Amino acid sequence: MSHSPRDPHCVFCKIIAGEIPSTRVLETDQAIAFLDINPVNKGHLLIVPRAHYPRVLDLPDDLSAHVGSLVPRLARAVHDATGAEDSNVIINSGRVAGQTVDHCHWHILPRFQGDPVRWPWPQGSYADGEASQMADAIIRALKSD
Ligand code: 5GP
Ligand code: ZN
Repeated sequence: MSHSPRDPHCVFCKIIAGEIPSTRVLETDQAIAFLDINPVNKGHLLIVPRAHYPRVLDLPDDLSAHVGSLVPRLARAVHDATGAEDSNVIINSGRVAGQTVDHCHWHILPRFQGDPVRWPWPQGSYADGEASQMADAIIRALKSD
């Protein structure tokens, strides 16, 4: 799929370029982390690769690995700074999945007992044989990738 390392219309590309202000907490050669402007809870961070890739499935493995390597340290810092008991680390990938800024990014959400966050996450189940068929389809896709 085609992509460009920078999209002139992308708000996160503008933040990375310093054209829009952000409250940064960590910068590396490949990524930056800053406060979400509309936090779910205060301390809500975004980790954003400097290169513009729309969805998680567009990311190069090494860039994804780099961003992922920052998560534990940033989560510890968010816990220390906010007193959070726990946290969610989330990527919304694509519009149907709730992504609103089409520049792939990780959320770190500090969580507190009794906070107002609710997951609309109904869970289903597999019929007999369905799980192995699904696993086979994913394994075939992995082999052809
Ligand atoms: P998404 O819905 O794409 O997973 O998350 C996008 C996030 O970016 C939202 O939580 C939103 O509040 C945040 N956001 C959007 N525009 C800006 C901005 O200009 N600055 C900052 N710091 N965060 C932004
Ligand atoms: Zn971008």
